[in-house]
Amino acid sequence: MMQRRELIQGLLAGGTLAALGGCASSGATPSSAKVVVVGGGYGGATAAKYVRLFSAQSLDVVLIEPNRSFVSCPMSNLVVGGVRQMADITVPYDSLRSKHGVTIVHDTVSVIDAQKKTVTLAGGASIRYDKLVLSPGVELMFDSVAGLQQAQADGRILQAWKAGPETVALFRQLEAMRDGGTYALTIPEAPYRCPPGPYERASVVAAYLKRTKPKSKVLILDANPDVTSKAGLFKKAWADLYGGMLEYRPQHKAIAVDSKTLTVKFEVHDEVKADVLNVLPSMRAGALAVQSGLANANARWCTVNFQTFESTAAKDIHVLGDSILAAPLMPKSGHMANNHGKVAAAAIVAELTGLEVNPRPMLSNTCYSFVSATEGIHVASVHEYVAAEKTFKTVAGSGGVSAARSELEGTFATAWAYNIWADSLG
Ligand SMILES: Cc1cc2nc3c(=O)[nH]c(=O)nc-3n(C[C@H](O)[C@H](O)[C@H](O)COP(=O)(O)OP(=O)(O)OC[C@H]3O[C@@H](n4cnc5c(N)ncnc54)[C@H](O)[C@@H]3O)c2cc1C
Repeated sequence: MMQRRELIQGLLAGGTLAALGGCASSGATPSSAKVVVVGGGYGGATAAKYVRLFSAQSLDVVLIEPNRSFVSCPMSNLVVGGVRQMADITVPYDSLRSKHGVTIVHDTVSVIDAQKKTVTLAGGASIRYDKLVLSPGVELMFDSVAGLQQAQADGRILQAWKAGPETVALFRQLEAMRDGGTYALTIPEAPYRCPPGPYERASVVAAYLKRTKPKSKVLILDANPDVTSKAGLFKKAWADLYGGMLEYRPQHKAIAVDSKTLTVKFEVHDEVKADVLNVLPSMRAGALAVQSGLANANARWCTVNFQTFESTAAKDIHVLGDSILAAPLMPKSGHMANNHGKVAAAAIVAELTGLEVNPRPMLSNTCYSFVSATEGIHVASVHEYVAAEKTFKTVAGSGGVSAARSELEGTFATAWAYNIWADSLG
């Protein structure tokens, strides 16, 4: 914290930055910017805002994002569970523009040229950068489950793993399901976006069905050997609240679906037929990162220098959030992506202005999950950069999990969401 304050004070005192000028505003697409940010999700929006803040508004920032508003994945399971509306998880980009002077271009980046240091937009324009920040989230690997791509295109088998129209469509499927029907959710092998996310979804769907169609069943079909996050707390909630209604089956790796019969096939176990089938395929870095050759870990995840989040594959491109090959015990979460955004922003501002890059950045994470419409649980951790090992490690004794689920934790979960939206976008 001290270092960040000193950095800002240093920037305010230095005349060079003010001379750079370039206070960006909305309007026509500019042809160049000091910092171009691709993706206005948790990582990208935070980086865009904090480059402006840490440079005392001196470095011009262009954010490229196709969506007109930010729609949050955190809290979106409550929309699937029928207790929140899309409006509750939608935040405008206005403050980034009006309060922080970020230029926002609503378009998609189709090509990154790391040699020429340009990005080309689907709309045809090209923007030159000194530093590029890439936070494109995840790509769902539909090919990992035979038949899934078509089933998805037909609207028969949904994922709703990027909050948006599918979130509502999945709720509609549950609403239309008969009492006595089965909702089945398949989970891919880790790492995937949001370790506790699928277990939260199964819980809030069970709460909805218990309330509205109590003869129904929830089946969790997990490719992993056990619940990957907050296992004890989730299992206790399932036994206490949904006994007989919710069943957890580990080591169920989905390999194929039949969209006509809503059947899912597994590598080892017998196939399962459902009334609403929610299949999450394997995941990798956002498509643009893969296409640009930045996913240099097994063609799936992007390796970065953890002190700055600069790609190990291309100079002056910083990759954040779900797309990176994570450090040990670093979850693919919105909270983490937000923290990546701040560390990268500080490093970028330091590098562009001749200041020392923070030698020991820190990150924190809290993942709340709802286990019913109102009760929450959490897991938290603090991570520090260990220069000798060039990675982040959890700080001994930091964090932990909730002692027990409670409505108070549900209130905290909602407050966490409002706070992180304000921090990333406000
Ligand atoms: C159901 C669910 C529940 C979750 N709950 C939590 C939670 O409680 N707490 C938590 O911390 N995390 C949670 N997460 C995880 C969290 O949503 C992600 O970890 C987080 O969104 C990652 O941030 P990101 O910046 O990497 O990607 P995103 O937030 O997905 O942002 C990526 C952005 O990039 C844009 N983009 C992609 N490609 C391009 C391109 N070519 N050009 C321009 N823009 C592009 C996309 O439109 C998108 O806006 C949850 C996720 C899910 C699915």
